[in-house]
Amino acid sequence: MPYGYTGNILHVDLSSKKHWIENPPENFYRTYWGGRALALYYMLKKMKPHTDPLSPNNLLIFAPSVITGAPAPAIPRYTVCAKSPLTGAQGEAEAGGWWGPELKKAGFDAIIIKGSSSTPVYLYIEDGKVEIKGATHLWGKDTGETQKIIKNELADDKVRIAQIGPAGENLVRFANIVNELKHFNGRNGLGAVMGSKKLKAIAVRGTKPIELYNKERVSQITKEITKRVMDNPLSRDLRKLGTPAVVRGFYEAGCLPSYNWTTGYFKEGENLTAETLNKTILKGTKGCYACPIRCKRVVEVDEPNLKVDPAYGGPEYETIVSLGSLCGISDLKYIAKANELCNKYTMDTISTGMVIAFAMQCYQEGLLTKEDTGGIELTFGNRKAVLKMIEKIAHREGLGGLLSQGSYLAAQKIGKGAEKFIHQVKGQEIPMHDPRLKTGVGLQYALSDYGADHMKAAHDSFFKDKDSVGIKEMKDLCILEPVSPTDIGEKKVALFKVLDIYWTVFDILGVCDFGYVPRSVGTMEELLEIIRAVTGWRTTWFELMRVGERSINMARIFNLREGFTSKDDTLPEVFYHNFQGGPLDGQEAIDKGDFQKALKLRYQLMGWGPDNGIPTPAKLIDLGLDWLIDEVKR
Ligand code: SF4
Repeated sequence: MPYGYTGNILHVDLSSKKHWIENPPENFYRTYWGGRALALYYMLKKMKPHTDPLSPNNLLIFAPSVITGAPAPAIPRYTVCAKSPLTGAQGEAEAGGWWGPELKKAGFDAIIIKGSSSTPVYLYIEDGKVEIKGATHLWGKDTGETQKIIKNELADDKVRIAQIGPAGENLVRFANIVNELKHFNGRNGLGAVMGSKKLKAIAVRGTKPIELYNKERVSQITKEITKRVMDNPLSRDLRKLGTPAVVRGFYEAGCLPSYNWTTGYFKEGENLTAETLNKTILKGTKGCYACPIRCKRVVEVDEPNLKVDPAYGGPEYETIVSLGSLCGISDLKYIAKANELCNKYTMDTISTGMVIAFAMQCYQEGLLTKEDTGGIELTFGNRKAVLKMIEKIAHREGLGGLLSQGSYLAAQKIGKGAEKFIHQVKGQEIPMHDPRLKTGVGLQYALSDYGADHMKAAHDSFFKDKDSVGIKEMKDLCILEPVSPTDIGEKKVALFKVLDIYWTVFDILGVCDFGYVPRSVGTMEELLEIIRAVTGWRTTWFELMRVGERSINMARIFNLREGFTSKDDTLPEVFYHNFQGGPLDGQEAIDKGDFQKALKLRYQLMGWGPDNGIPTPAKLIDLGLDWLIDEVKR
């Protein structure tokens, strides 16, 4: 019998309103394990190249993993995949919360959705039963209202709901998907794919326990990790300060992305720190399914003209910067409001902040006028303008309609040199980490199959000296020697090849990056033990790393089919220039020649052509992907 997984994959065709269940053999699960690897299998097998991402032919796949739902620390995540309407590449985003574990308890390892409905619908899955229900009455409603109505009409407060708000319905290209109002499949515009299918929500309820191979061992390791949470400085900081903990270090170093990346120096940075957030608007902390770390912020503002509802959680580091210093804003209360609006409408806060900051720079340089903005004074630091622009983007009104296409397309339409004010990779806006001070993150921005992303590998600082967590705790992967965060030589390239695969394994398995080394308290050995105890498979890190590498090659081939080449593995121009202003003024530009050399070496280390970055037939055979050799030839 299967342990950890159910053996059931649900297929839904929204055009014909039919559904059916597939029961793949054990070897299928042992090859793909879940998440992006499982999703890419279906995307490569069932989707034709050059499918319009917003057409019924795009597949929308929700995939937890073979271990999701086990009552163990920091394993709550599930992946959503589709061809991205933002990048045109393989689209992917992971979310925590409760939805993934609930789907497993409801009897399914994944949902593969094709087609589109003529009228709004939502899926209701309860202990193996599947129903497609009308959602016309929900269309246009924000996430809080939708959740309340669905729970009421199903008469079940415990049902877990993944859904889109108006931004997804309106096909904003960076719309996201949320569960429980505050856990997001954040990037790549997958909410717009859901909107294009007229699928408002997926409500799931499961009461069946997930069968575990060795329940006692899972419980024992969970207790051991839980005991150490407050003794480990990394997990303790996550509990006390959340991801905003890093604001202070970046602000003091002078690398806090500000004013649309024109500087890393933000003189009011103190106002954005986790300590200030804790003192002013923090109401409490929350966590995800079975996780003892509880790193999530919950904030509240209750002022006569500004109210922020704690039901929508609170801003993470990325949001504080993208809707804060990047737009010249230093008021946490307004940033919390901007975060709440994005969450109600389901818009990725990184891309939202980035497109607004881009428009602010265009306005400053005279490329956009008050006529274009509908009378909004779109200057850096204008807090109310940010809130108004969020409304306009979500509802695609005026300039908001243009910005809803993402900064890459918006810059092309604005013209007049606007392209020099955008910062993106493969069409996706970059996150709030500066690769000039962590070159490995830059390599990951360039190479990520789904556009710039900061969660594609652990960051350079965890490997900087002999006492760093990564050096002390990751010897199992032959990581023995420290490398400077600003180095871009051979050792850095080799290190990040391993780290990329390691965190890809986390993505596949639904493991939270904030739960295990090098970012947190759980060890590699403990995670491996949990995986073995859940599945009963005598797996090793060797096998898991091959699963991760397999999915990276599958994604590379998916993108090749869509016309992406090594020319799309880029870094925004701004990082080839020195910092302007603050403590780092005039320093730290990345050398373009060195970066190109690093990319070529990385291709070779991956078993790809050194000049074109195309997986070789030998590499595909090595990973059991010989079925993709013909795709590469084509
Ligand atoms: S560490 Fe934080 S984000 Fe990760 S699973 Fe735990 S509570 Fe959720």
